[in-house]
Amino acid sequence: MLVNAGEEDISFENNVDAESAPPVEFYYTNELVPSGADVPSPSLSDVNCCDCLIPCKENPHCACKSHQKQKFEDDRAIQLLIDKDEGAQAQWKNTKYPTNTGFLYKENGTLIELLPVYECNALCRCNEDCVNRRSQRPRGFPLTIFKTAERGWGVRYDGKTTLPGHSFIGIYAGEVLTENEADQRGRTYDRSNRTYLYNLDSAHLRTACEKINGRPFNEEEDECCKYVMDAHHVGNFTRFFNHCCQPNLVVVPLYVDNVNPFIYKTAFFTWRDVQPGEELTFNYGPGITGNEEGIAGNTGKFALCKCGARSCKGWQLSRLAL
Ligand SMILES: [Zn+2]
Ligand SMILES: [Zn+2]
Ligand SMILES: [Zn+2]
Repeated sequence: MLVNAGEEDISFENNVDAESAPPVEFYYTNELVPSGADVPSPSLSDVNCCDCLIPCKENPHCACKSHQKQKFEDDRAIQLLIDKDEGAQAQWKNTKYPTNTGFLYKENGTLIELLPVYECNALCRCNEDCVNRRSQRPRGFPLTIFKTAERGWGVRYDGKTTLPGHSFIGIYAGEVLTENEADQRGRTYDRSNRTYLYNLDSAHLRTACEKINGRPFNEEEDECCKYVMDAHHVGNFTRFFNHCCQPNLVVVPLYVDNVNPFIYKTAFFTWRDVQPGEELTFNYGPGITGNEEGIAGNTGKFALCKCGARSCKGWQLSRLAL
């Protein structure tokens, strides 16, 4: 069954039709699965780690703390550079770091800002309740995979209390492919009108590109994306999230046990407070505008959007998985 892979508190509900549970034709995991010889496996050599004998949050000399702080400054600089929205700019500028823990995570496990996270790892001496290991611990609240009236299966938050903004929800797991392999699989998927591929091309990779190229990032020439994630054969409950034009989830790059900047976990965090019983959704293609993509002539890639949000654009990228 879907939930036997160490997954807690997930139930199914269908008040719409006779299907008892969604089709489960994939390998269930919360990890990234490297596929093929050209994709490096997660490596602990050279990975940043700490030797804290007291809790990391209490140790001013924790090496993971300084690492996260450095990355925060780098990544925020890039975010400011690419974020053209003035309101968002003002918000970024005002973000105070460090928190009282010294990490991007606050004491209650939420992030101060939705920027890439660098967690403590297998080589660190701290234990599993370290504040900088949030994604490595159980989620801590129940979810229901339920049948919606018009949008197939979806996922609902079924905790008893309000889930605060910037809370960890889960990892969008899948196979990691080279771009070549992804192109080949993409052609097959296009024929079946389904999209399972997710580019690992987060804006913060510009720093890594600059290091490799030895020059400033060039928007026209440089390509940050080296690997693509495929959630067709491998995945978890996150593949049932529906699209919404005004979603309550966002994706945040997350590093654990891996030093390769181009291979990161794509973690879902809440964008704002979420109330018990609310469906969890994210925007399948936030940067894409209708004109650019020519929706009308591209019906395999796009579908009518039925999210019901006030700002609904009327269409969406086809389901990423399922
Ligand atoms: Zn530490
Ligand atoms: Zn550490
Ligand atoms: Zn730690």
